[in-house]
Amino acid sequence: MRIRVAHLYPDYLNIYADRGNIAVFERRAALRGHSLEIVGVEPGDTLEPSAFDLVYVGGGQDREQALIAPDLAARGDAIRTAVAGGTALLAVCGGYQLLGRGYRGRNGSAMPGAGLFAHETVAGDKRLIGDVLLDVDLDGLTTTVVGFENHAGRTLLDLDAVPLGKIVAGHGNDGTSGYEGCRVGAAIGTYLHGPLLPRNPVLADWLLGRALVHAGGTDELEPLPDELERLAHAVSAGRARSRGGR
Ligand code: GLN
Repeated sequence: MRIRVAHLYPDYLNIYADRGNIAVFERRAALRGHSLEIVGVEPGDTLEPSAFDLVYVGGGQDREQALIAPDLAARGDAIRTAVAGGTALLAVCGGYQLLGRGYRGRNGSAMPGAGLFAHETVAGDKRLIGDVLLDVDLDGLTTTVVGFENHAGRTLLDLDAVPLGKIVAGHGNDGTSGYEGCRVGAAIGTYLHGPLLPRNPVLADWLLGRALVHAGGTDELEPLPDELERLAHAVSAGRARSRGGR
């Protein structure tokens, strides 16, 4: 099958090689006989998110976020409609923050958000940095997710918002709640870089599966050996555990 992917702001949001997540989608799809058609979307470009099976937004610093925030916020209705219709989405760090209701950066500047995730973010004084380990439940698929966080933003989820996972080690959304990320349908927002997906093949395949279903196929993906991926996952998990809890 052909999976249509919208990569939002690749020239602005690509911190810690977040672009690598797209490479993982591409490779894991190809190994199962599927292909990705990737469209880069920059500010001002026309976009119909519902026409895509997967939307991707990487992370970035406050300066880059401020440059794209109004454009992303203006796409809020269309993105919410697409996700309600089953489009899968992955947003990392800066992209995750701006898919909430808004982000107040380190210099106090208020950036509008797209309002997909029920949260608000405010930058704190101390950055939250280090390896992270999460327990995650994706509609009954329980797994661990690992990654690296580095953010000033404290993201406060509304009481009825669903986090991506529970912190085993690391800071997560705000350093105190014990939760990380947010999920709405097949849309996932997270602070975890790495890039995230090379060391989290279960999460990569879950998103790929959701995108395939949106494309009119099934989410049954032939298993891959994933020896290196599992090793990388274990190394990250070990580093996070040795760092300890919050
Ligand atoms: N600028 C944001 C923050 O510091 C996001 C940083 C990032 O994407 N790593 O909170």
